[in-house]
Amino acid sequence: MASTRSSIKIDGASETQTRAIGMFINSCNSFADVLTASKKVLSEQQANLTFNDPRLEAKIFVEYAFNKTSMQLITQSDKPLCVGGKKKLVTALSKRILGYPVAYIVGCQPFWTLNLRVSEHTLIPRADSEIVVETAISLPLSNHANVLDLGTGTGAIALAIKSECPHWLVTGCDFKQEIIELAEANAILNNVDVAFVLSNWFSAIAVTQAYDLIVSNPPYVESNSVWLKQGDVRFEPSSALTSGIDGLDDIKHIICEGAQFLNNGGYLLLEHGHKQAGMIQQMLQETGYTEVTTKQDLNGLDRVTLGRWLPNN
Ligand code: GLN
Repeated sequence: MASTRSSIKIDGASETQTRAIGMFINSCNSFADVLTASKKVLSEQQANLTFNDPRLEAKIFVEYAFNKTSMQLITQSDKPLCVGGKKKLVTALSKRILGYPVAYIVGCQPFWTLNLRVSEHTLIPRADSEIVVETAISLPLSNHANVLDLGTGTGAIALAIKSECPHWLVTGCDFKQEIIELAEANAILNNVDVAFVLSNWFSAIAVTQAYDLIVSNPPYVESNSVWLKQGDVRFEPSSALTSGIDGLDDIKHIICEGAQFLNNGGYLLLEHGHKQAGMIQQMLQETGYTEVTTKQDLNGLDRVTLGRWLPNN
């Protein structure tokens, strides 16, 4: 995998703005006030932010800063606002107006039926990846299938699969200890039993381990893509996003190496860029995989390709 890009600096970038936001938020006396003020702060920056629904984001940040549910914001609307909550809100808004992702600010993101902690070491789970889970759990695998999620990140895909198919033995791997610790914390948080191991793709996976299914959402963006200069991805680790000039380096590696870790009849399931399906289908077929098919994401774009390893047929 490529080395991690140094993250964009967000602290101290706008002391004057933070002071102005602080004065504005400190003058609020109720949740209703603070919601309106937060929405105003975000609306003023709307043109600079890509993902933006100021009203919704204001609600997310107020709930996060004051540790309240949506319902509590209503039922406790006459309660005084605590100083700690206001401070946390000012920090959150100051980061957000610089484009820092909502999920990194609040430290979590829903995926499938799970709530996952996220950190700057990992990609923020996307709804697009739910098609990987949907495809995996619909495969005709045995009751005790052995499943590997390569480059698991937050553990999103591995944990979602295990939550739906509790009899499957699911392992997730990634190449940094911090990532493994995050995925393990997510397993505990969601009460799902997945083993996470430190491994750079297959480097620490024993060839004696035969899997019925290997899944991966590897990095697949072209290294010089303009897409990397916009929105949340600017703050995500490039090691989780880019993979060589055509975005296919890691996918090629997984396709070539994967076969020796698959049982006869096992499946390889890959998430990929919406223009990469043709190339990936060809690579799978040339390597000897059969039953190669591609599925679309929620936007109707080619997003996952599946191949079956059946060398004895
Ligand atoms: N789908 C992601 C994006 O659009 C890329 C994720 C990946 O490279 N695995 O940013």
